[in-house]
Amino acid sequence: MPFDASTVLSTLEKLHEPPRTFLDFDSPFHLLVATILSAQCTDKRVNMVTPALFKKYPLPQDFLAVPEEELRRDIFTCGHYNNKAKYLRETSRILVEKFNSEVPQTMEELLTLLGVGRKTATVVLYAAFQRQEGIAVDTHVWRVSKRLGLTKANSQGKIELDLMRQTPRAKWGLFHTLLITHGRTVCTARNRQCEKCPFKNDCPSSLVTGKIDLAKK
Ligand code: SF4
Repeated sequence: MPFDASTVLSTLEKLHEPPRTFLDFDSPFHLLVATILSAQCTDKRVNMVTPALFKKYPLPQDFLAVPEEELRRDIFTCGHYNNKAKYLRETSRILVEKFNSEVPQTMEELLTLLGVGRKTATVVLYAAFQRQEGIAVDTHVWRVSKRLGLTKANSQGKIELDLMRQTPRAKWGLFHTLLITHGRTVCTARNRQCEKCPFKNDCPSSLVTGKIDLAKK
């Protein structure tokens, strides 16, 4: 492999200052809500919807106090609102009944919530509780890792394992946000801006050296 992830990580640390998460939140519960809403939706859109949502639904029990139809209308613009309304209500019910209305702090417990997969749980554990349980692989992490040759895998689970093996656990959450930041600002999906990238001379997908896009192979 042309780069190891630790080299990429230290270079990106000098280049970007990412937030802990790109979603706005004021409590672990609201981060969980925002993360569920962000599936197949942009963080920007979610951040437009959540101020009013958080005000109307401060606690899990508030999601259970309104008809599902009303909740669907409140989250309509995030897309997939039928499923997301169901997930939010069922997750709220489990939190109230099993976790004293608090967001649990282990991967195992978070995965018992409806609409919460490993990616969502990893983001919540890192951003809300500073716990490093994995490297959530979203579309940016997937694309940038593939382009840089950090992984040849094609599934989220295998890509995550490849990245975790190559980086210290204490940096997993940071690496996730750095890869996203790089994917949003430089190594973008449609027009990768290789001439501005610190990896331009050695990256196996660099346009500067005439390489093909490894994320498209
Ligand atoms: S050189 Fe180009 S393809 Fe490689 S990481 Fe940088 S922007 Fe992405």
